[in-house]
Amino acid sequence: MKAPHFATRTLAILLALAAAGLLLGALFGQAGFGMAGGLLVWAGLHLRQLIRLQLWLSSRQLTVPETGGTWQVVFDSLDQRRRNNRRARRRLLAALAAFRDAARALPDGIIAIDDSDTIHWFNKAAKRLLGLRYPTDIGNHLTHLVRSPRFLDWFAAGRLDVPLIDLPSPEDESVRLLCRLIAYRPGFRLLIVRDVSNLMRLEQVRRDFVANVSHELRTPLTVINGYMEALDPEEMGEFSELFVSMRQQSRRMASIVDDLLMLSRLEAQQKVNDEPIDVGALLSVIRRDTEALSAGRHQIEVEVGSALGLRGSPRDLQSAFSNLAFNAVRYTPAGGRIRVAWTCGPEGGVYSVSDTGQGIPAQHLPRLTERFYRVSNSRSRESGGTGLGRAIVKHVLSLHDARLDISSQVGKGSTFRCVFPASRLLDPRDAFGGSDRPGAAVLAGPKESLATTPAP
Ligand code: ADP
Repeated sequence: MKAPHFATRTLAILLALAAAGLLLGALFGQAGFGMAGGLLVWAGLHLRQLIRLQLWLSSRQLTVPETGGTWQVVFDSLDQRRRNNRRARRRLLAALAAFRDAARALPDGIIAIDDSDTIHWFNKAAKRLLGLRYPTDIGNHLTHLVRSPRFLDWFAAGRLDVPLIDLPSPEDESVRLLCRLIAYRPGFRLLIVRDVSNLMRLEQVRRDFVANVSHELRTPLTVINGYMEALDPEEMGEFSELFVSMRQQSRRMASIVDDLLMLSRLEAQQKVNDEPIDVGALLSVIRRDTEALSAGRHQIEVEVGSALGLRGSPRDLQSAFSNLAFNAVRYTPAGGRIRVAWTCGPEGGVYSVSDTGQGIPAQHLPRLTERFYRVSNSRSRESGGTGLGRAIVKHVLSLHDARLDISSQVGKGSTFRCVFPASRLLDPRDAFGGSDRPGAAVLAGPKESLATTPAP
């Protein structure tokens, strides 16, 4: 045991020096002075060692001074501790270097930023993909260095769940990037930048293929349909039933090709025209078409609960809104109720279609916007849908910064809600020039119901 040995030795030397001083002093009749002198020598020896210790600690000298005696224990244990610390530090630095090397070697760009968007660190790929410069850009604001408006909007929104897709690299326009934000410790985020040029090229090939095939099919189909419409099934004799079925299928094919072409056009679009849309007037058109499709089998209600209009593409929104209303007719048995409404509130503008139809089982809801996804194949085909309606709705809405919410209960009915952000809403007085415009009556004021028209 070092501590008791150390203490006993120090005490023994102290006593020995005090006794020697006492004896030497007693020889000259000054025992007290003698003992004080002995203690002073003891204190002086320790002071000398303390000074050596201080000098050694503050120097970078690696060898331990030879002090001998009790102080050697102190020097040796401090040296041991210093060695252990040095070893732990070396291990930590090696681990840190390994991490940095791994992050540096990643093909994805990684940029560590704090809450004020200041760059703390980035890897080699970030230099290549975003054109950052080391070390000048460390400590700079990321938003001062990457200036693309699309990037700035996305970055300002700070959404961790929504990546930014297809951003051209500031270094080379042909390189397309996918950016993602990850929160990795309080006050810090990682911006991950991935080169997705190949994926984008493949996606383009797929889009072009679908668009070209649809386009090529359209002409022969138009010709076939033209002939079929011109012929009279009555004149087909025993083939008349067969002919009617052929005509139906040929019409269906034409609708699918039309929907595919529309989807291709929507996919190729980055943004929509910002035309003013009188939603009240649009709902009148939808009501007329929905009633025509229902042919009196359903009770149809339309409510314009807000005078506000929308900014966007009237043609695309009419397609999306009609699709939701037509599906409500298709999937609601005769006698059911369908309600179409436009309201505005804290959430933004909401176009909703509710029905009391067959409903959709919950497991199908997440996949409903996929192309050709059908809840029940036979039923959907009979209903006359192309299987592309929901995908079209999704694209139209995303081009208008809107989202689709679906809630449904099997056997009770479904509600589809298109939620538009406040930035897409339009004051009718600014857009349509006051209330003397035809159709302005439908925009007369909030909470006014356009019509609550039970079908005849
Ligand atoms: P389609 O163009 O064939 O109608 P959609 O993409 O619009 O295809 O719809 C996908 C599927 O979702 C439909 O096949 C149908 O099964 C289901 N669906 C859509 N709307 C409704 C609704 N209002 N009620 C019940 N099921 C619906």
